[in-house]
Amino acid sequence: MTRVHTVFDCKHEQDIDISVEDDVLIPEQVRGLGKCPACQGKEGMVPVTGVAPGPGGKDLVLDSILMMPVM
Ligand SMILES: [Zn+2]
Repeated sequence: MTRVHTVFDCKHEQDIDISVEDDVLIPEQVRGLGKCPACQGKEGMVPVTGVAPGPGGKDLVLDSILMMPVM
Protein backbone atom coordinates (compact mmCIF):
# COMPACT_ATOMS: atom_id res chain seq x y z
CA MET A 1 0.00 0.00 0.00
CA THR A 2 1.06 3.54 -0.75
CA ARG A 3 -0.26 6.66 0.93
CA VAL A 4 -1.08 9.45 -1.50
CA HIS A 5 -1.94 13.04 -0.68
CA THR A 6 -5.18 13.58 -2.56
CA VAL A 7 -6.91 16.90 -3.27
CA PHE A 8 -10.59 16.44 -4.11
CA ASP A 9 -12.80 18.73 -6.22
CA CYS A 10 -14.45 19.98 -3.01
CA LYS A 11 -10.97 21.34 -2.10
CA HIS A 12 -10.61 19.00 0.85
CA GLU A 13 -7.37 17.09 1.15
CA GLN A 14 -6.94 13.59 2.46
CA ASP A 15 -4.25 10.94 2.53
CA ILE A 16 -5.55 7.89 0.73
CA ASP A 17 -4.03 4.43 0.90
CA ILE A 18 -3.86 2.79 -2.50
CA SER A 19 -2.17 -0.15 -4.11
CA VAL A 20 -0.75 0.22 -7.60
CA GLU A 21 1.66 -1.69 -9.77
CA ASP A 22 5.32 -1.25 -8.90
CA ASP A 23 6.11 0.56 -12.15
CA VAL A 24 3.55 3.34 -11.59
CA LEU A 25 5.09 6.63 -10.44
CA ILE A 26 3.34 8.32 -7.52
CA PRO A 27 3.35 12.13 -7.59
CA GLU A 28 3.48 14.11 -4.36
CA GLN A 29 -0.13 15.14 -4.84
CA VAL A 30 -2.93 13.59 -6.86
CA ARG A 31 -6.31 14.89 -7.97
CA GLY A 32 -9.32 13.29 -6.33
CA LEU A 33 -12.22 13.14 -8.75
CA GLY A 34 -15.46 14.40 -7.27
CA LYS A 35 -16.02 15.12 -3.61
CA CYS A 36 -14.15 13.63 -0.71
CA PRO A 37 -15.75 10.76 1.25
CA ALA A 38 -16.81 13.09 4.06
CA CYS A 39 -18.63 15.45 1.67
CA GLN A 40 -20.29 12.50 -0.03
CA GLY A 41 -21.47 11.35 3.37
CA LYS A 42 -20.65 7.74 2.66
CA GLU A 43 -18.54 5.29 4.59
CA GLY A 44 -16.42 2.40 3.51
CA MET A 45 -15.43 3.86 0.18
CA VAL A 46 -12.63 2.32 -1.81
CA PRO A 47 -10.20 4.21 -4.04
CA VAL A 48 -10.14 3.54 -7.77
CA THR A 49 -6.88 4.71 -9.29
CA GLY A 50 -6.45 6.29 -12.70
CA VAL A 51 -3.07 6.20 -14.41
CA ALA A 52 -1.80 8.17 -17.39
CA PRO A 53 1.37 8.12 -19.45
CA GLY A 54 3.99 10.43 -17.99
CA PRO A 55 6.29 12.85 -19.81
CA GLY A 56 7.80 11.07 -22.78
CA GLY A 57 4.97 8.55 -22.76
CA LYS A 58 7.14 5.83 -21.34
CA ASP A 59 6.34 5.66 -17.66
CA LEU A 60 2.91 5.42 -16.11
CA VAL A 61 2.01 8.07 -13.55
CA LEU A 62 -0.78 8.00 -11.02
CA ASP A 63 -3.17 10.63 -12.37
CA SER A 64 -6.33 10.57 -10.30
CA ILE A 65 -8.21 8.84 -7.50
CA LEU A 66 -11.94 8.23 -7.50
CA MET A 67 -13.66 7.10 -4.35
CA MET A 68 -16.34 4.50 -4.99
CA PRO A 69 -18.84 3.14 -2.48
CA VAL A 70 -18.43 -0.52 -1.69
CA MET A 71 -21.33 -2.54 -3.02
ZN1 LIG B 1 -14.92 17.43 0.96
